[in-house]
Amino acid sequence: MQKALIIGSGLGGLATALRLTTRGYDVEIVEKHYQAGGRLNQISADGFTFDTGPSFFSMSYEFDELFEDCGIPNPLQMNELDPVYTVYFSDRKKPFFIHKNLKKLAKEFEGIEDDFENKAKAYLKQAGELFHDTEHVIVKKNYDSLIQYAKSLIQVPLKHSPLLIRNMWQELNRRFDSQEVKVIFSLVAFFLGDTPFQTPAVYSLLNYTELQHDGYYNIQGGMYKIVEEITKILINRGVKFHFNTEIVSLIEKDNKIDGFIDKSGKKWTADFYVCNSDAASFRGKILNRKKYSPAKLDKMHWTLAPFTIYLGVKGRVENLHHHNYFLGENFEEYASKIFKTSISPEKPYYYVNALSKSNDNCAPKGCENLFILCPVPDLRFKPDWSDKEVLANNILEDLSKRVDFDLIKNTITRTIYDPIDWQNKFNLYRGSGLGLAHGLNQVAALRPKNKDEEYNNLYYVGASTTPGTGLPIVVIGSKLVTQRIEKDYATSDATLQRRKQKV
Ligand SMILES: Cc1cc2nc3c(=O)[nH]c(=O)nc-3n(C[C@H](O)[C@H](O)[C@H](O)COP(=O)(O)OP(=O)(O)OC[C@H]3O[C@@H](n4cnc5c(N)ncnc54)[C@H](O)[C@@H]3O)c2cc1C
Repeated sequence: MQKALIIGSGLGGLATALRLTTRGYDVEIVEKHYQAGGRLNQISADGFTFDTGPSFFSMSYEFDELFEDCGIPNPLQMNELDPVYTVYFSDRKKPFFIHKNLKKLAKEFEGIEDDFENKAKAYLKQAGELFHDTEHVIVKKNYDSLIQYAKSLIQVPLKHSPLLIRNMWQELNRRFDSQEVKVIFSLVAFFLGDTPFQTPAVYSLLNYTELQHDGYYNIQGGMYKIVEEITKILINRGVKFHFNTEIVSLIEKDNKIDGFIDKSGKKWTADFYVCNSDAASFRGKILNRKKYSPAKLDKMHWTLAPFTIYLGVKGRVENLHHHNYFLGENFEEYASKIFKTSISPEKPYYYVNALSKSNDNCAPKGCENLFILCPVPDLRFKPDWSDKEVLANNILEDLSKRVDFDLIKNTITRTIYDPIDWQNKFNLYRGSGLGLAHGLNQVAALRPKNKDEEYNNLYYVGASTTPGTGLPIVVIGSKLVTQRIEKDYATSDATLQRRKQKV
């Protein structure tokens, strides 16, 4: 049986392990952290259980595909969100409820945006056509050369080309009149880890995925169930996990990796290796590639850093819904300036997920489990986070006023992860939350590849390789890298047969 060593147990690493074991490969996983999941992790404190990162996802069918590919029924109970989220503006008491049903959504914008339904239909039609014209032609593909990529690009209908030139905000400006609709539709840019002023208009296709196509989902029992369920299957299949094991260097032989070395000096060997650590910074830090030196990495375009608060409070916060965005004033000025300064925002914009609204087991009875995420500058711009308690208090004071509930007085437990924590816990470059950004010069064949340029037994999966970041996209990435491995390391029919019998 051919053996794979996977470095990192983020979703990309776990999903790849699932696909590889299904195909008869022997898999072993080394992980820096004390438990599996990467950014999709979990912390427990004082009777509360918090999901650390992702709180919802689109393209739920990618999880169905993953389990179907592995011959197992999907063990996850995926709940569709309706409303998909709620948006609070600072100068308006009543929030906007964002529904997939456009008639219902149009009611939210009555008196604010004339003819909203028709405008939204036209905007989403264009975004939907782009989604379907690129999903298989561009996104779900391995590229071996720029020529191959150019050939794929030619297949995308020319009518989409204006979206390559504009940014999201410019496109929304053409389509809608009210500031409220433009701001709300532009929030998807932040899901890609950037502002709508930096994000190309092609990503309006994300508005289509959230409002028309598949919508948003979370997992019954909390997002960490994804990790627990996959890990359970992998352990049953004989996969060994080694936690608190960080890879720091390698041994090479004849253009191949002969083994990786962990912090304690132990050598780890396999027939081939799959790196789930950040595909750009790993090439720099561990492989010493000049193209990924710190100076070059710093010049790349990285997604915003997260500042996250995990708050357990006594009492139920009635004015809060499941997924909530709290926006301040001067959206354009805030979004275009704040992420490149060394100052913490005084009036921050933030997202709040109240997991206890739908999951009883994540908080003691009568209490609320809140995850608060504020996008902030990464460590290139703001390396000092000694003011983290001040920023956390700023956010909690603002939120307390807006939901009419004293969160500070009723706090039972509070944990903060600033960008330094995110960097140190999971090797996220400069604390960037979602990895490399998705500008047109950092996608598809122009993103760090999922097969190494020099070592022919080293592959990559995860947010900073192809196709990109976000849970369903990383799951697609596990499929793409598995296709490459299968091509290079075919398993015998007999091994595959044995595996199928075991499953
Ligand atoms: C705060 C936050 C909120 C998010 N919200 C959402 C959301 O709502 N929806 C969504 O779809 N996505 C969301 N994302 C993005 C999503 O979490 C990521 O795209 C996805 O989880 C990335 O998975 P990955 O496979 O790249 O692995 P990662 O999560 O990066 O895991 C990689 C693993 O490798 C380990 N590792 C790194 N280096 C080494 C080494 N040298 N040796 C050994 N182990 C190593 C790390 O410890 C880590 O466990 C969010 C991200 C963050 C940070």
